[in-house]
Amino acid sequence: MTDPEKNKGSALNVMKGVDQPSQINEAMVKRLKGKKTKVHTPDEFIEGILAGNRTILSKAITLVESSLPAHQDKAKEIISRCIPHSGKSLRIGITGVPGVGKSTFIEALGKLLTSEGHKLAVLAIDPSSSRSKGSILGDKTRMEDLAVDPQAFIRPSPSAGSLGGVARKTRETIILCEAAGFDIIFVETVGVGQSETTVHGMVDFFLLLMLAGAGDELQGIKRGIIEMADAIFINKADGDNLQKAQMAKREYSNALHLFPPSESGWIPVVDVCSARTREGISAVWEAILRYHSFSVGNGYFMNKRMDQNRQVLFETIEEALRNHFFSGRDRSHRLREVEEAVISGRMNPYTASKELLDEYFKHNNQP
Ligand code: GDP
Repeated sequence: MTDPEKNKGSALNVMKGVDQPSQINEAMVKRLKGKKTKVHTPDEFIEGILAGNRTILSKAITLVESSLPAHQDKAKEIISRCIPHSGKSLRIGITGVPGVGKSTFIEALGKLLTSEGHKLAVLAIDPSSSRSKGSILGDKTRMEDLAVDPQAFIRPSPSAGSLGGVARKTRETIILCEAAGFDIIFVETVGVGQSETTVHGMVDFFLLLMLAGAGDELQGIKRGIIEMADAIFINKADGDNLQKAQMAKREYSNALHLFPPSESGWIPVVDVCSARTREGISAVWEAILRYHSFSVGNGYFMNKRMDQNRQVLFETIEEALRNHFFSGRDRSHRLREVEEAVISGRMNPYTASKELLDEYFKHNNQP
């Protein structure tokens, strides 16, 4: 510590600071402390959700996202009671690299839909959470108009967990939103990795947003993602970029001819749009509606949903088994031991896994 007396007149003298207001708002602390969050019963949750109560819907989603066993049990009950009221929405996946304009686009298409009387829920899958802490939709300013639209409900991506875990939570959130009366669900994902396949597995229509770029038009987005798309829209088709976007449209159309025909028999739509000027946004909606009547007409729509259910069945079993195996208290210690042995070459991975599985099955009285 510097001695103020000794350092008088010296540059080392520490001036007494000006009083600053407390960083904590005491009045707010008092209010929050006094406020008890109401714990709803499952009946109250169901009643609230079916009545379209957004506060209760949000609380139910929070339960779904919680990892506390008590919350999980409650969430399971709520979901199974919501299932009979779900399934009636059109589920649309939207993907594209960061910066392609997804949030601007969702705002533009979303406002169009709510102005037509639709109720829209916007969810996100972003297990990497490379952007803001926890979620790509956490930053509400990304969709200013939609965020305050009473016909729209924006829910940030659950931040923690594996892709499988996040996917399960998103699927369950879709069910809750549908039960709450939302007839259109957007599931947004960043077009950089595996999450597109996951989103594709839970939606009816998969929309890929692209940019007109110089050089190889297929760069940046993996071929597999292009193959999954029911429509490709080249965004930012405005101003000087319009011509380039038109060129990209021709190139993608040509490239798509080289792909095998899709299972649904649908020929993907390729077009341009501008989320900023909103030019071409209504064409996106028209394409989605055309796809809907096409796929309902040939039975693909329902088949795909049933196939997705089958997928959920297996994924749920796998997730439960995996959690059961890895969450054993003694097992994590043994696992570390064996892992160490494998890394150092003292054990081979096959013998090591067999040893652990044998212990696991023996402990659980399995064959
Ligand atoms: P995201 O990362 O995919 O969600 O992209 P954003 O919606 O945040 O958009 C990234 C940037 O591109 C922002 O500065 C937007 O204003 C801009 N942008 C989005 N759509 C368009 C468009 O259609 N035309 C133009 N010129 N800019 C756009």
